[in-house]
Amino acid sequence: MATCLVTGGAGFLGSHLCDELLRRGNRVICVDNLETGSLANIHHIRVPEFRFLQADIVEPYFVDEPVDMVYHLASPASPIDYLRLPLHTLKVGSHGTHHTLGLAKAHRARFLIASTSEVYGDPQVHPQPESYWGHVNPIGPRGVYDEAKRYAEALTMAYHRQQGVDTAIIRIFNTYGTRMRPNDGRAIPTFLRQALSRKPITVFGEGKQTRSFTYVDDLIAGMIALAESGYHQPVNIGNPDEFTLLELAQTVIELTGSESEIVFEALPTDDPQVRQPNIDLAKEILGWAPTVGLREGLQRTLDESGVEMLVGASR
Ligand code: NAD
Repeated sequence: MATCLVTGGAGFLGSHLCDELLRRGNRVICVDNLETGSLANIHHIRVPEFRFLQADIVEPYFVDEPVDMVYHLASPASPIDYLRLPLHTLKVGSHGTHHTLGLAKAHRARFLIASTSEVYGDPQVHPQPESYWGHVNPIGPRGVYDEAKRYAEALTMAYHRQQGVDTAIIRIFNTYGTRMRPNDGRAIPTFLRQALSRKPITVFGEGKQTRSFTYVDDLIAGMIALAESGYHQPVNIGNPDEFTLLELAQTVIELTGSESEIVFEALPTDDPQVRQPNIDLAKEILGWAPTVGLREGLQRTLDESGVEMLVGASR
């Protein structure tokens, strides 16, 4: 049995990761300050192999038992959160990552950081391979998140090169599934909430911008495969099926049987026009590829969440 530390383990992806690590027979220590996460995501984990530490990783923190693997997921992740918490977002990416890398070094643990496709910014190369350096506006409102993650990647590689820490970098593309917060501002939870509550579905611009959506179970499988691989360079994990936001809105309306109309709003600043992972590396290094398509994933999200959770009535 390995002991895995999960920062951000009370959040959307972190709680799914904790579930899967426990299911595979590991001990799990979840560190979270509940800034955007919730005890509701982890309250069901009442097993002796699970431990919750409430801590803000921007401050130094310590764990009083051996740790074999560190999954570093803590960070505001949705535009609504990082635009509301710009300084905190930069501090989690810098101080929080520094403290967590130090902890991994002290425990001689392997370390994996949850980076993001946002490091590619509004990409000028499409689809995006890991070798693409990105096109980010460092001083725009989104820069706090994109640059925090780019800095965190640089810090991770410096700990690897200079300190010999065994590190991994996963670049996560838009992921969805149950436990997303209905008001977190990301497209899928927003469209589901609006469709289920019969409100107009708000699409930015003309809805022609594209995104690739990964179902949470596929993402967690890829993350654990990378953690277990011993690979150090960044790896894209995402579903390369590409949809326009308008297609997504229409699919959500169809699956929910909603009568909501689609309305168009102004595009946010620096909104990426296209986003699609090149996953050749993940296939080659990890033997990983997504298995759940958008319709099936959305249907599973609807079935597992229930209408109340998706419209925000149960929180
Ligand atoms: P989330 O907001 O649901 O989870 C983040 C968790 O981190 C929350 O539980 C929050 O309370 C915790 N946290 C934030 N600041 C903290 C701090 N200072 N100390 C301790 N805990 C703190 O977000 P998520 O969607 O689960 O994202 C998890 C990670 O994956 C993030 O690092 C995010 O950047 C990355 N990511 C997610 C996606 C996606 O589509 N969900 C895409 C790319 C990257």
